[in-house]
Amino acid sequence: MGRFKLKCLKCGKEYGQEYRLMCENDDSFLRANYSEKRLELRNQPGIGRFHSWLPVQEELTTDAGPITYKSEAFARELGLSNLYIGFSGYWPEREAFTKTCSFKELEAHPTMQLLKETGGKALVLASAGNTGRAFAHVSALTGIDVYIVVPDSGASNLWLPEEPTESIHLISMSPGNDYTDAINLAGRIAKLPGMVSEGGARNIARRDGMGTVMLDAALTIGKMPDHYFQAVGSGTGGISVWEAAIRLRADGRFGQKLPKLQLAQNLPFVPMYNAWQEKRREIIPELDMKDAKKQVEETYATVLTNRTPPYGVTGGLYDALVDTDGIMYSITREEALEAKALFESLEGIDILPPSAVATASLLKAVEAGNVGKDETILLNLAGGGYERLKEDFTLYQIEPVATAKNSDIPLEELNL
Ligand SMILES: *Cc1c(COP(=O)(O)O)cnc(C)c1O
Ligand SMILES: [Zn+2]
Repeated sequence: MGRFKLKCLKCGKEYGQEYRLMCENDDSFLRANYSEKRLELRNQPGIGRFHSWLPVQEELTTDAGPITYKSEAFARELGLSNLYIGFSGYWPEREAFTKTCSFKELEAHPTMQLLKETGGKALVLASAGNTGRAFAHVSALTGIDVYIVVPDSGASNLWLPEEPTESIHLISMSPGNDYTDAINLAGRIAKLPGMVSEGGARNIARRDGMGTVMLDAALTIGKMPDHYFQAVGSGTGGISVWEAAIRLRADGRFGQKLPKLQLAQNLPFVPMYNAWQEKRREIIPELDMKDAKKQVEETYATVLTNRTPPYGVTGGLYDALVDTDGIMYSITREEALEAKALFESLEGIDILPPSAVATASLLKAVEAGNVGKDETILLNLAGGGYERLKEDFTLYQIEPVATAKNSDIPLEELNL
């Protein structure tokens, strides 16, 4: 059967290696079914170690990859005896070399490789931050073309630890356009010949790239953790580690119990938290994210403010929470800032705002008794080391190749 097949979680239809986001029959997620049922590590420095369960033919050679270590100082402060930190970012002292400083880069490497192996010419995405930076970086390393559409407010997040290359096509939007406008324009560009839409959570390469955080943790710990903590905006990370845990369970060497997902959003924008409180599969906008635009503006970690997360879809976050008997948290700005300061002072590395939200949710969980003192906990700090990176690297701002007035402009005007 080759290295893997894609299988629809609803109707069971199978597909080969394709850059495919949708089933032909329904809107369910597809999932990769790998021929290797046992995780066999490859001799690669980063994420390529986990080739067994990545949907690409060629092994990835990047040194970017997840790391896991056992916390001492922070764990002691919380009274926990088995707290592990999963860290995606730059922290050379712990052999973490993800230079765009978030786990979005774990998604970008296999995605660009899959694009190349399936004959795509260029990838198109909309992003105001970590995702755009990650894909731009991989484009700079591989020469594969990316078209990144950013709303005006996001352009400053698009820096690189190397000089930008011509393969990176950044399209900025004039003030007044928001993330949704950027998504709409990216959708139109993706219809041009040779262009492929990146696809978000529907992109199997993204999910399985992110899932390596759980694989690395299980290998480091010797088994799957009892609990998994992460801050979520789309929930893709939660879905990904759930899928990775299902594969580890089938492998047999890492335990049979799936880690309990304990996921956090930040107030006042907490649609998935609200829906999950009532165990609802549907997010009801009037109830769960009333005045969404205003709520988004008031949040501390804006990365966590996806307005159309893959929550209710078959194979989405709701299913992952049900299957793992999950818990969700809502975190205030003050709680996040306090947790950030505590973590950074005790562990000696800077973390990004969403990681501060995740850390705050662990503090809450300990207080509420949602974890046992001796249980095994994985805290996924999905972004960090930005301050540390600046000590070692010069950062370059990516300059736009075009500016769009709005999302309906004739594409010829952009001169792509
Ligand atoms: C994107 C991102 C998240 C949220 O991830 P999802 O699982 O896609 O919701 C959390 N932390 C960081 C650092 C991120 O970049
Ligand atoms: Zn189907």
